[in-house]
Amino acid sequence: MFWNEELETIKASTLKNLQLKRLRETIGRVYFNVPFYRDRFQAINIKPEDINSVEAISRLPFTTREDILNNYPTGLLAVPRDEMVRVHTSSGTTGKPKAIFFTKSDIDRAADLIARCLVMTGMRKNDVLQNMMTYGLFTGALVMHYGAEKVGVLIVPAGPGNTERQIMLMKDFHTTALHITPSYALYLADYIKTKGIDPKRDLFIKRAYLGAEPYSEETRKKIEEMLAIDVYNSYGLSEMNGPGVAFECEMKRGMHLWEDNFIAEIIDPDTEEVLPDGTKGELVLTTLQREGMPLIRYRTRDITLIIPEQCACGRTHRRIDRIFGRSDDMFIVKGVNIFPQQIENVLMATKGVAQNYQIVLESLDNLTVRVEIARDLFDGNVTHLVNMQNKIVEALKKELLVKPKVELLEPGTLPVSEGKSKRVIDNRTL
Ligand code: ADP
Ligand code: ZN
Repeated sequence: MFWNEELETIKASTLKNLQLKRLRETIGRVYFNVPFYRDRFQAINIKPEDINSVEAISRLPFTTREDILNNYPTGLLAVPRDEMVRVHTSSGTTGKPKAIFFTKSDIDRAADLIARCLVMTGMRKNDVLQNMMTYGLFTGALVMHYGAEKVGVLIVPAGPGNTERQIMLMKDFHTTALHITPSYALYLADYIKTKGIDPKRDLFIKRAYLGAEPYSEETRKKIEEMLAIDVYNSYGLSEMNGPGVAFECEMKRGMHLWEDNFIAEIIDPDTEEVLPDGTKGELVLTTLQREGMPLIRYRTRDITLIIPEQCACGRTHRRIDRIFGRSDDMFIVKGVNIFPQQIENVLMATKGVAQNYQIVLESLDNLTVRVEIARDLFDGNVTHLVNMQNKIVEALKKELLVKPKVELLEPGTLPVSEGKSKRVIDNRTL
């Protein structure tokens, strides 16, 4: 089922025309209303009328996170401040937050995109969504909330934390869907298991939307199995509304990026050259319908690729792959580039590994992975632990080409994050 069948299955050529029309409107809007953009365009001698194809977007300069910070708080607004009805900030995982302003119709459009996402994964009016993201300055919970309300589902605005209460709410309100971070979902799934709750018998959850931080296919599988549900990947960032930018359909093979609202490009983060579909690189997004704070060629720092094939679900908006990591997440050990995701892939695919892990960087040559393993391995038999440790070291070495140190921990040793998890502890003094 579709929320907006005409737009979701729009013909590729019609979509291109629509993108061009909206791109030109957006360029005009920022050129005449945002001095920052006008100066940028003038510096390279570009006028709005020069952009006469979608591809011509590559002539425009990028907008970076620093540009948003330097113009904090209202420097990038394209309509008067009085027209704004909400401000959100990014979670600031990587430093000072960015402020993003929304007009009334910006909020409405963001909610509409969420409605598309929810309906395409089977949500209907009679569903109950337990929203376990943090309410407040962040976009995660509120943008999802407004979208779910549009679909007409019952929302349980639980926010994160207090797992015991979460389970009570799930039981009492017959929660059928969760919106949650992957790290908290792993914790929740384990908690439910430990308490002897049978998700099939005692709960009503059918699906969960996981986003806000990178996680692996293995993590998805683990959560799906532990809770007996479908897990859908949800991608977004505050700069582009928050959730609802790209979302998996029922095929669960990549996330449809709503191309009537965003132009997506993949670039080489070093050379800034635009890469063809199917090639991994940094995702760059341009808003096509934003009134309040349009952003042109925003460098997300998220590494992914555009899936070239059409999706079997009938939606024509191209899909992006799972976010492989952020370009600024990558670290180097013994000269080898490593993404935290690679480590997670290996850990979550290893039998006997529990839910939580941490990556500790001590020097340029040393990598330590601290990982919680199943309780029953701490049975007093040291051989079991040694075998497990060797198994993890070997599996990681095979994937990373660097031999890490592995510390085994009992479940519950590492801190659990309710919001975004901090997986990498960097103690290097460079
Ligand atoms: P911050 O940059 O402060 O974390 P946000 O709260 O807006 O700001 O988070 C957006 C970022 O979260 C994205 O740029 C991306 O790195 C990450 N993210 C969001 N959804 C996903 C997802 N489904 N998979 C991987 N990473 C994601
Ligand atoms: Zn699809």
